[in-house]
Amino acid sequence: MKITQVRLGRISVPLRTPFKTALRTVSSVEDVIVEIHTDDGRIGYGEAPPTGPITGDTTLAIIGAIQDHIGKSIIGMDVDDFEDVMQQVQKSIVGNTSAKAAVDMALWDLYGQKYGIPVYKLMGGARKNITTDITISVNDPETMVKDSLIALQRGYDCLKMKVGINPEMDVARLKAVREAVGNDITIRIDANQAWNPKQAVRILNAMQEQGLQIELVEQPVPAHDLDGMKYVTDRSYVPVLADESLYSPADAATILRMGAADLLNIKLMKCGGLYNALKICTMAEVYGVECMIGCMLEAKISVNAAVHLACARKVITKVDLDGPVLCSEDPILGGAVFNEKDITVSDAPGLGILGIENGRITYIN
Ligand SMILES: [Mg+2]
Repeated sequence: MKITQVRLGRISVPLRTPFKTALRTVSSVEDVIVEIHTDDGRIGYGEAPPTGPITGDTTLAIIGAIQDHIGKSIIGMDVDDFEDVMQQVQKSIVGNTSAKAAVDMALWDLYGQKYGIPVYKLMGGARKNITTDITISVNDPETMVKDSLIALQRGYDCLKMKVGINPEMDVARLKAVREAVGNDITIRIDANQAWNPKQAVRILNAMQEQGLQIELVEQPVPAHDLDGMKYVTDRSYVPVLADESLYSPADAATILRMGAADLLNIKLMKCGGLYNALKICTMAEVYGVECMIGCMLEAKISVNAAVHLACARKVITKVDLDGPVLCSEDPILGGAVFNEKDITVSDAPGLGILGIENGRITYIN
């Protein structure tokens, strides 16, 4: 199963409603699609979203990294030499984790296809179903209450809310939503590096003292400040989940050794794909730390790869894979079934992606 071509294209999928965070407002998913072709006529699919403000990976950077480095360096290699190909992907260029993730998942797809086994079984096969939260966009409290109640009607029982613009407004928003949804609904928050350590402890403990029952907080302090994150972890009533602080398996090792966070957030686009994500899972297991699996604003090919990982490994106890349900349409054929909060992995060989609707990809090579 020799790699003959790494083909790239672009796809655009509109969102149901514009997605608003403290940093940006987005109205559609604009992703790079990777097809890896082999000499026995198979195609493995991968995908990467440009998330410049988060990973530094822009559309043209993803395309360039794959065309000039990652893709080029694996042409002619045999997918069956799997460990060699995986290592080649990671060492072919520094950084560029989104590009690496897209190629990595296409290779897992091919490897699974070759042996007729779904990738989640190859990686562990813990379960077939997972349950995702849904993100509520940042707005005034009334709009957020309305959006939260709509999410509940759609069956969600775990809401993720972005905070960090203004602590008083954040508490007002959370209070309004908590009062409207009652105490049986899980609320997790994401501060996206907004606070300094002392501020974070003060705000988080005040939230809990007011009965807001926050399940966890993502990345309360700047990504580089691991000492600061440990300070918060040691003092906050709300468990701390490392997100922007955690890219590589080496980052995971440092965070775990320091006890800098209570939980780890794995995203394929940060760690460079399933190969590295598995290393993070294993380390977290050893330390007895649970993981969340997250995604960017992505369409179904790449989120589907994350579903396979989440279904493979029990250490992933929290799921934040709402990318596909935020989209207003799904041009990807096959893969996991996303039925609002309930996600069921596909038992088809590989990652189970069958293709993309005709005319939806704009190929660039
Ligand atoms: Mg986050």
